[in-house]
Amino acid sequence: MTVIDPALRATRTTCPYCGVGCGVLATPDGNGGAAISGDLEHPANFGRLCSKGSALGETLSVEQRLLYPMIRCSKGVMERVAWTDALDHVAHRFQHIIARDGPNAVAFYLSGQLLTEDYYVANKLMKGFVGSANVDTNSRLCMASSVAGHRRAFGADTVPGCYQDLDEADLLVLVGSNAAWCHPVLFQRMLANKQRRGARIVVIDPRRTDTAGDADLFLGLKPGTDAALFSGLLAHLADAGALDHDYIERHTSGFEDALARARSIAGGTAATALATGLSEPDVAEFFQMFRNTPRVVTLYSQGVNQSAQGTDKVNAIINCHLATGRIGKPGASPFSLTGQPNAMGGREVGGLANQLAAHMAFTPPDIDRVRRFWKAPRIATHEGLKAVQMFEAIGRGEIKALWVIGTNPAVSLPDADAARAALKKLELFVISENVRSNDTVNAGAHVLLPAQAWGEKSGTVTNSERRISRQRAFLTAPGEAKPDWWIVSEVAKRLGFGAAFDFNSAADVFREHASLSAFENAGSRDFDIGALTSLSDEAFDQMAPVLWPVRSGDAEPQQRFFAEGGFFANDRRARFVAPGVPVLRTETTAARPLRLNTGRVRDQWHTMTRTGMSPRLGQHLPEPFVEIHPSDATKYGVRDDGFARVVTDYGQCTLKVVVSERAQRGMLFAPIHWSEETASAARVGALVAPFTDPFSGQPENKATPASITPYEYVFRGFALSRTRLELPPQIWWTRVAVTGGYGYLLADNADLARWQSWLRSVAGDDLAEYKDFGGGVYRAASFAEDRIETCLFLGPARDAGDWDVVKSQFSAGTLGDDQRRMLLSGKSMDGLASVGPIVCACFGVGRATICDAIGAGANSAAAIGAQLKAGTNCGSCIPELKRLIAQANADGAATDPERRLTVAN
Ligand code: SF4
Repeated sequence: MTVIDPALRATRTTCPYCGVGCGVLATPDGNGGAAISGDLEHPANFGRLCSKGSALGETLSVEQRLLYPMIRCSKGVMERVAWTDALDHVAHRFQHIIARDGPNAVAFYLSGQLLTEDYYVANKLMKGFVGSANVDTNSRLCMASSVAGHRRAFGADTVPGCYQDLDEADLLVLVGSNAAWCHPVLFQRMLANKQRRGARIVVIDPRRTDTAGDADLFLGLKPGTDAALFSGLLAHLADAGALDHDYIERHTSGFEDALARARSIAGGTAATALATGLSEPDVAEFFQMFRNTPRVVTLYSQGVNQSAQGTDKVNAIINCHLATGRIGKPGASPFSLTGQPNAMGGREVGGLANQLAAHMAFTPPDIDRVRRFWKAPRIATHEGLKAVQMFEAIGRGEIKALWVIGTNPAVSLPDADAARAALKKLELFVISENVRSNDTVNAGAHVLLPAQAWGEKSGTVTNSERRISRQRAFLTAPGEAKPDWWIVSEVAKRLGFGAAFDFNSAADVFREHASLSAFENAGSRDFDIGALTSLSDEAFDQMAPVLWPVRSGDAEPQQRFFAEGGFFANDRRARFVAPGVPVLRTETTAARPLRLNTGRVRDQWHTMTRTGMSPRLGQHLPEPFVEIHPSDATKYGVRDDGFARVVTDYGQCTLKVVVSERAQRGMLFAPIHWSEETASAARVGALVAPFTDPFSGQPENKATPASITPYEYVFRGFALSRTRLELPPQIWWTRVAVTGGYGYLLADNADLARWQSWLRSVAGDDLAEYKDFGGGVYRAASFAEDRIETCLFLGPARDAGDWDVVKSQFSAGTLGDDQRRMLLSGKSMDGLASVGPIVCACFGVGRATICDAIGAGANSAAAIGAQLKAGTNCGSCIPELKRLIAQANADGAATDPERRLTVAN
């Protein structure tokens, strides 16, 4: 594999978003941008990218970047300082607090988007040399329950299978995973198996997601009952004589206890149906499919992990695979899908507060081994505080110094308002960041350190299947941005630990990390990449994606684990784990009668600091919303396309309403991506209860008791501007990237005269205006060199102007006289209807256009693709195309059957 293709001058690197870990070819354009395509040679994606990966080229702007170190001065203002001053200050303040209050008064909070080398150095500093294990990561919110489940069952955090199993399975069971939106390239791989080999797909989820659209069987179980379903399955497998007694006997322990517990939880089809809310025939069909299919892969993701019973859910799934010996064999394994690009790398270096390093634990032998390897006499000897508990300790004043690296906890933590408030109590609050403003930065950081971003930094990441890939730099870092490993190492040197942090490159760090993995290992630990210990700098640059383990002396690469046992407990056996009785930690009440489920949307990632820059990605679902079942919508008086206030015991949000049968009765769904930077009242993390799993510490993000009430606005509309706008206070708004500037979707109850004076204050008096204040309509635009500079369209819900049409005119550039005159009509010049909200982000194909094609006879995704190209690039929108076809067929008409999330047309 070549790193740089001389013909293309493309750099091979890895996508910075999800745990699929797709290979990317980036070809710099010489102006700070790059053309992006999928890497045909990368075994995770073979050239495919989803909508997010395909749009990476639109996210390379440095406009919002943090370019220089900054320290808050005595007047409370952030001031630029030299790197040496910033590093001296951070080290001095940490040293002072550690000397005064001890090592547990300080903490690091890291990110699954860091490179392994960054993670390694931060973990080494805190656990090895500061002497505290208060180093945790946003991966705690992502897959900590999988880690805990793996360690309980396997004796190590091992993913037994690999992506090839998705090609070779005959049954793919997706549990709590909307892979069609969250792991799109892998989902396309599963669909290819279905098409090529006839693999069947079962989707288990309280919400009927787009992933369910391709399922042979959809099980819309009650929230929190996954462990009951898999307990029922284990009992069924035993009753039906479908166990692999030989495997159980030779390689496991604890089976009888686990089976007895499973029987007590759900001892038959009827009991399972009762416990899960599923129908008996559906339960029976699933049991029969699993029982009769040796090649089965069960994939689980946030619906399993983000739960106060997440670890038990993981073990209930693993129990069924152990009991049938379907583990580590081609097409047969349990399979955790990680959310983040390098959550796995973080696990490898011990980036979680309850791990040490290199998959070693806080046991006396492991502590001693790592202490000797690092030459670290002050090494931490106990687990540290996990994320939620860490922020609670900050709130109590017990942790006095925090260093946040590459994440946005003021948005993403549960009970996020409390987490944000806690940050204000810190004596020292340091952030290493790419952007100069986000909710966490704005929560009162004392020191900002500019970190290199994707495309500038260099190192490794590990994806869901244990494949280590290189992220490579193809852009020059702007300003004074530095690699995270360098920043942490420089602080470590100033703390007096120079000899242990004398790294000159990411390759230096990687070699030490590889060496630790093999140190006194000899097969006793799963994570071993000892064969990479001696890579030269050049070999590190050229390193091809590789599955671990990569042991010195291995004749053949090892793809999978555990087909023949060989677990990592002392007795080399796997443990069956008897799960607790699956009961949700919280009850609904008369005041909070619904349960709030949270998750992702197809085209956004985390808190949108990167994807939010892409106009293409802003087109699909531009507004924060809450999804509710039609019968609940009627019951609680909310209507589709209206607004609602969602309230929990922790916070409230005001969101657009989507009424859909995708939602289960009694449940709400809201996406997690919006922050105070991008919307007025949509920090969904602030709604989430801070209850955590007792084993993994992972919070329950999927079932917070909530209420919903309608909220009315008199006016709706939008603004478009070449620059960011300071909007009037106390309105509803959300910001979305558009080509050529910024879009704002708006709603308000104030009179229109206020908006007119506001617009004049931001755009000047030279406005083209259409005013009908009596009819509740105000449209105005300012122009510069015949292009729209700023425009504002407000009106009653259905009469504010067509967002999609005006947006396209804003983005088009120069407008002719007729176009300028027609603009304020808010309709398309040529009389054509708006294309509607964009469904296919790759080719910009709107829903109205697709519905027209369906109406004209295109009755398959392939037919729509042939006609409009929609769905023919990344394939992420294919589930939505199928849904539109199904809905049109059900309605008997294809006239935009699903009007969703358009504020202003
Ligand atoms: S599936 Fe999409 S987001 Fe995930 S790694 Fe691949 S291109 Fe990136």
